Order: sequence, then structure tokens, then C-alpha cells
Amino acid sequence: MSRQTVATIDLSAIEKNLCLLQSLSPSSQTVAVVKADAYGSGAARVAKHIEKRVDMFAVAFFEEARHLRERGIKLPILILQGPHEYQELGFTVSLNLCWMIHTDEQLGWLDNSELSHSQLESRLWFKFDSGMHRLGFTMDRFRQLKDEYPHYFSSSTVIATHLACADEAEREHTVKQITAFLEQVQTENFPLSIANSAGTIAHTQARQEYNRLGIAMYGSSPFDPLVSDGKQLQLQPVVTLQANIIALRTIKKGDTVGYGATWRAPRESVIATVAIGYADGYPRHAPTGTPAFCNKQRIPLVGRVSMDMLTFDVTELRDVKIDDVVELWGANLSINDVAQHIGTIGYELMTRLSARVPRQYIGAE
Ligand SMILES: *Cc1c(COP(=O)(O)O)cnc(C)c1O
Repeated sequence: MSRQTVATIDLSAIEKNLCLLQSLSPSSQTVAVVKADAYGSGAARVAKHIEKRVDMFAVAFFEEARHLRERGIKLPILILQGPHEYQELGFTVSLNLCWMIHTDEQLGWLDNSELSHSQLESRLWFKFDSGMHRLGFTMDRFRQLKDEYPHYFSSSTVIATHLACADEAEREHTVKQITAFLEQVQTENFPLSIANSAGTIAHTQARQEYNRLGIAMYGSSPFDPLVSDGKQLQLQPVVTLQANIIALRTIKKGDTVGYGATWRAPRESVIATVAIGYADGYPRHAPTGTPAFCNKQRIPLVGRVSMDMLTFDVTELRDVKIDDVVELWGANLSINDVAQHIGTIGYELMTRLSARVPRQYIGAE
């Protein structure tokens, strides 16, 4: 039998999560964020499945948009980092792109481009830095840019910002950002965009004309489970990562497992070797004790993560045999729970899943 390692993507769960998020903010339009290959879930497949339920897609950079167009996706695509070089603007109309403009250099490229004002109509988003200090024009330049470039500021130009702390229980930073942003731009009647998933869920004021939804659509809550104080929505898990047991052995008390002999059995133990490793995107720094799920029970990782294999202590499993399926995260074991043991977040586990892991789709009717 060939290697059984697989990531199963539940497309109907993505739809349910999307509906749930949209129900929180029913008068907003949805920008479905499908950057990083739809957070590892397969951008073209996911985009095709939700195309009728959303208003546009967003990706980080130009090549990600071209990939979607080559696979038949038709809705407008917003490029969140704007153009990286002047030449990309030449594809604006043919690839039906919208640009997030955040630097003077990009404004200069727009000015030098052949694009007419009517071609740019409804394609420009301007990003302002309300306190994340990563991308965007400073807030105080809103008026000046609008006066200096009136031809780029039509009634469909979206004025956007991004929140640094919307996923945190402490609300002060987010409230400050939203206030600073709205104070400058609200009087003008431009469509606005503030919220990512966390903003949409936790901050009513962040829900504006366009919500940019990513992680929650993929079934992982952006909130720390320990500090979520009731903000947890009933999101459906989307990605289930599984691999099979390819070897089983009983080792004596005191024997060690894996590279570096870092784990020593405190008692006679049954060790299951599972066909997935860091080359598949499972983090090498996952410590002993990181959970997986097998035969209705949680089992702890023991010893170091290898390139192609993991080892688990299955001594406590009543019934275990070669070929049994181990779930690394997914429907039975929340990705955020696993991420917490590894010292990372669901976003990283999802997006680092490597190309070597086949994606299988369910829930497409
Ligand atoms: C990735 C991204 C999003 C989506 O964020 P989630 O936390 O995944 O919902 C929204 N806006 C911008 C600018 C992004 O880069």
C-alpha cells in the first residue's frame, strides 16, 4: 500500500464558517483571503467552491493572483501588498486585479502607467497605518493624498487599515487603532475596510463595507483559547491531517527513542512510528507530549521529529496495529490545541504543510 499521509479539506466546513462570519456582519461585503495557497488548503479549489458566496478574493502578491486566474477563478482579486514592481500593473485589466496601494513608490508607478482613470475605477484600495506600523501611509496623509491624487479617490476607492491586536483579550490597542482610523476617514463616505477574522468576530466597529476573512473561514479561531471570554464561535474544523502507523515495537524501561536519544522510556512502552515528518510540514521543534489522536484517544509524541517520521507512545492504547490512522490535527483534535503545545499558532501549522502532502477534498456535494 502506498503512503497514506493526507490532508483532508472539508469544503462544506469552509462554507459553514463563511456563513457564520457573514451573519455577524450582514451588510458587509466579503473579501475571502486565499493567500498562501488558501492557508495550505489549495487556493484554486477553495476559491472555486466559495466563489458564489463571496464578493472578491485577496492574495498577498501578484503571482498568487495569476495562479488563480490560470485556474479559472473569475471574481476580482485584491493584491494585499500592492504591486512589487511597475510591470505588474500592466495586468490590472486583463487579470481583473485590485491593488492595495501603500507606498509613494506605488503611487508613482500608477502615475506612470498606461491605465486610464476609468480602468482604475473600483480597483484601488489605499492602506493607512493606524498603529500596526508594518504597511500603509501614515494617517495624517489621508487628506493630502486625496487632494493631490483626486483622480484615484473615487466613490469606489476603498480606504483600509489592518489591526495588530484584534485577536487579543486586551482591547485598548484595537480601539485606539479603529478610532484613529475612523477619525480621519469616516467623514468622507469612502467604503472602508478594517477587519480581518478577529476584527469581524470581536470588534463591532471594525465591521465596515469590506471584511477580509482568512483564518476563521479555515476553521481555526484567531483567539487564544485561554483568553477568549466567550468570543469563540462554533467554527467547523476544515483541515484534518492524517498519517498511518508503519511500525510498532515494545521497548524496555530505560530505552531511548529517535535521533539524539532524547526520550527515555520511564516504563516498558509501545512505540508507534508514523509516516509523516518535518519534510511534510510537521514542525521539527514539536516537543515530547505534543498530542495526536488515534483510535479515539490522544497519544503523546515522544522523541525528536524526523524528516519523514514521528514516534508516539501508544502504550495506553487498548488496540493498536500497523496501518492504524493517526490524526495530527483536525476534526478530533483542534489545530490550535496542537499549535499551543508546539509554541506556534494554527496559521503557521496550516500554511507550512508541504507540497508533499496530498490534499483530498470532501464536502463538495
Ligand atoms: C492575511 C490578511 C487578512 C486575513 O487575516 P485572518 O486573520 O486570517 O482573518 C486580512 N487582511 C490582511 C491585510 C491580511 O494580510
